[in-house]
Amino acid sequence: MKRSGKVYLVGAGPGDRALATLKAIDCIKEADVIVYDRLVNKDLLEYRKSSCEMIYVGKKSNKHTFTQDKINEIISDKAKEGLIVVRLKGGDPYVFGRGGEEAEILFEENIDFEVVPGISSSIGGLSYAGIPVTHRDFASSFHVVTGHAKKDSDLDINWKALSEEKGTIIFLMGIGNISFIRNMLIENGRKRDTPVAFVSWATRHNQKTVLSTLENAEEVVKSGEIEAPAIFVVGEVVKLSNKLNFFERKAMFGKTVIVTRSRKKNSELKEKIEELAGRTIELSTIDINRKEGIEEKISNLDFENYNCIAFTSHNAVEIFFEVLKERKIDIRILSNMKLASIGKATSDAIESYGIYPDIEADDFTGEGLANKIIEKLGKDGNKILFPCSEIAGNRFEDLLSISSNEVDRLEIYTNRENLAIKDELIDILKTEKIDYITFTSSSTFKNLKKILGDENMHLLDKIKKVSIGEITSNTIRKSGCKVDIQAEIPAIESLIEAIKNDINKGK
Ligand code: SAH
Repeated sequence: MKRSGKVYLVGAGPGDRALATLKAIDCIKEADVIVYDRLVNKDLLEYRKSSCEMIYVGKKSNKHTFTQDKINEIISDKAKEGLIVVRLKGGDPYVFGRGGEEAEILFEENIDFEVVPGISSSIGGLSYAGIPVTHRDFASSFHVVTGHAKKDSDLDINWKALSEEKGTIIFLMGIGNISFIRNMLIENGRKRDTPVAFVSWATRHNQKTVLSTLENAEEVVKSGEIEAPAIFVVGEVVKLSNKLNFFERKAMFGKTVIVTRSRKKNSELKEKIEELAGRTIELSTIDINRKEGIEEKISNLDFENYNCIAFTSHNAVEIFFEVLKERKIDIRILSNMKLASIGKATSDAIESYGIYPDIEADDFTGEGLANKIIEKLGKDGNKILFPCSEIAGNRFEDLLSISSNEVDRLEIYTNRENLAIKDELIDILKTEKIDYITFTSSSTFKNLKKILGDENMHLLDKIKKVSIGEITSNTIRKSGCKVDIQAEIPAIESLIEAIKNDINKGK
């Protein structure tokens, strides 16, 4: 029997990825096809499954514009093929998003659909600029109005009522029509000195709030201070922005940080920076892959034979436990082994499986971990399993092997530079203003260097280099680069603190 398709009209929220609803994320995860617009934060698309088809129907795609009819046709056709279609729109689908029209067509064509409301820029976007749309002292109503029309006369708006009302007036798509909007409000009785604000790219790292008066609104747009997409808001509530604009006061607002990451998923570092309103550019400088045949090797291990398992990277932890799970090997098989870990990131990865390391190095080095194992388990007779990267140093094994301990090195992943990003990286470094670049391990730096090539390393000169710890810093210095900032202890939290301190120093 043919599966019947379904369409979800989903609001993606105003921009900040974290403002999407749980239901929106669930729909994206489930979708066979995602049909999305320009104002949707592309990071949300990362939740899709790998087989999901993506169709961009926003404007400015190679100057090609999809007509509304064409969009409707795509959505209906895909649903009729039995697919789950997510129609992803900025803000809320029913606020000037033509969501109503699309839903009507689905109803007429007898296609199953649901609507997932989103936070509209008209309300949520303004709150990120410190503007509450209502307030007992200033406004007891708000009006969300389209400023867009082919001709001014097409705007079916009761300007008189709108101007005489004391409520907040919020115009979406109003920038191009600002002169008409301003004149109509003034002619119909709104005071010239009414406070107004423009908020562009609300809830994004590049959010900009410009405060003015109704009188001067046109000048603000003419001066180029504000660009689309922007909300134009008129009313006394705007006065609160200076007090309530929490977002633009966040610690990393206005800063751009390159995050060199190793595995595919969104990194913790990226999330933390975004929480502080910073912009991140994530670059996978490292390609981490399981070593071929490793599943067999792990399955065939004689676990009973070991009294200790040592991890020196979170990648090793994740890959090792992923394989155990895939092969349905119960983790209790490790119950007779002591777990040794290096550094907080590695321990965090271990703890995410509900088990806690018995031995942790104090100084985050392989040498430190070897000494700690000897201290805790004795000098001789230990049999240690060491799942690691193909490029893990030998210091750990060498030190332990001096006495009669045995270390079984099990290389479970490869760690290579991702040359595919070279052109993109050079382009970013040449064209964007980058404040910081973070290195969370020696290999993130070494790989970046290999990708860029010596001849392009000067492109990093003006960017502050942030290192997670002494080992990484030494690697950076050895290649002749300066380390501007080092985390106090090698952990993501500490690295973020170090950047925040640096920003504060500059204030
Ligand atoms: N459905 C959307 C609105 C779509 S109309 C919502 O509920 O937010 C598109 C207009 O919305 C833009 O021209 C702009 O005026 C406004 N807009 C949407 N997202 C915005 C953002 N992040 N910052 C400023 N304005 C935004």
